[in-house]
Amino acid sequence: MKKLYLQTFGCQMNERDSQEVLDMLTAQGYSLAHEPEQADVILLNTCSVREHAEDRAYGNMGKLSEMKDTRPHIVLGIIGCMAKLHQGKIFKRLPRLDLVAGPAELYDLPYLLAEVQEKRQNVNWPDTRYTRVIAVGRTHRPLEQKPAVDTRTGGVRAFVSIMEGCDKACTYCIVPKTRGQEISRPPKEIIEEISRLASVGYQEVILLGQNVNSYGKRFPDGSGYKGPLGKLKLLQEAPDDLLDFPQLLRMIVRRTPMPRIRFTTSHPIDATERLFDVMAQNEPLCEWLHLPVQSGSNRILRAMRRGYTVEAYLEKIEALKKRVPDIALSTDIIVGFPGETDADFRATMELMRTVAYDTAYIFKYSPRPGTDAALREDDIPKEVKEERNQALLAVQEELTAASLGGRLGNEAEILVEERGNLPGQWFGRTRQNQGVIFESEDDWTGRLAQVSVERLAAHTLFGSLAPARV
Ligand code: SF4
Repeated sequence: MKKLYLQTFGCQMNERDSQEVLDMLTAQGYSLAHEPEQADVILLNTCSVREHAEDRAYGNMGKLSEMKDTRPHIVLGIIGCMAKLHQGKIFKRLPRLDLVAGPAELYDLPYLLAEVQEKRQNVNWPDTRYTRVIAVGRTHRPLEQKPAVDTRTGGVRAFVSIMEGCDKACTYCIVPKTRGQEISRPPKEIIEEISRLASVGYQEVILLGQNVNSYGKRFPDGSGYKGPLGKLKLLQEAPDDLLDFPQLLRMIVRRTPMPRIRFTTSHPIDATERLFDVMAQNEPLCEWLHLPVQSGSNRILRAMRRGYTVEAYLEKIEALKKRVPDIALSTDIIVGFPGETDADFRATMELMRTVAYDTAYIFKYSPRPGTDAALREDDIPKEVKEERNQALLAVQEELTAASLGGRLGNEAEILVEERGNLPGQWFGRTRQNQGVIFESEDDWTGRLAQVSVERLAAHTLFGSLAPARV
């Protein structure tokens, strides 16, 4: 039996993609190797959002290539966003590599690996210049070819990708180039997948997409809703081809028994009050939303081509908090974007305080080749980027402590995921996605526990089981 070693970099979409690679190759007779030394095929599923992620992948694969000295038969492959962005250039930095395949070619992997083997019949093997394979030409992933196998047989939380690609054009972002235009999975498939996951015991799904709010715009068969959302009335049961994200959520709630549902990533333009209504009206939809703002300055938002203003963003936050009072909010912020002044930076700090985020992922701007922003001078000095990064991290530290502190003395419903680090400890999350630890002799895996929250240490809440109510 052939063995596959798979390393994943980057976002949850990549994690979900890696799971699909494993599903496909398991159906082809592969088993998973936990160490590269045991593997016949080694794949790195890569990320190009920041230079650092790419450097790590190059570094790892460079090291792994040395194994060919003693094990020339192994197959080495780079898949994912880096493959799409850098294509054949990757072979220059990794001459012993056998395969480069983009995110859209994920479902072609079994054939591509067979092609590598076929080419190895070539007299020049093991000279990979004659046997390497590259596949980066697809404009989008043919979702209709999605493998039927799903090897997930039990767990607590599961990722479910609902769409691929992004139609936006944020100037700093490489994703539209590496993942193509938005294509949504047919709702029937999504509901079947979630129902299957529920039937094997999963208690929570996280719906994934680069911009889940524009679900339904385009399906693999070319159908999808047309025209501005505003025209669409919130129908009880929309015909499938007119389905948008709020209605997909309603369908999932109605047609599957999944107790908890989250989704990421949202975009402020497409996150509508109708979505907030659906979140307020449907119990399985958790009170948590990840809504990247990126900057608190309208000038920088324009330069990023985000398509909304700070005022419009804050209006949406207010509309959401009115409908879902105990919502927990998280966001992404880029600090040090070209041209960012002190005033822009302070505006971002102020916006963070105004929204009072529960968590924020703060990134220092790094130019990505192939993006519009990379054409601009990266004029914010490294030290200033670092200073501003630290300052925003400190603000978020205060906000997170305040939000978690607000839980002390209250009860919370926890979905228990696993054992804690110490004997008798259990770890789970609130509906607001906050981590909680409590102690019990019983096995709580995958169960909902009512916990009285008693103390906070770093970003973890500690508590004890609340007395059972009769
Ligand atoms: S919305 Fe913008 S930042 Fe997000 S994936 Fe699309 S282009 Fe990138």
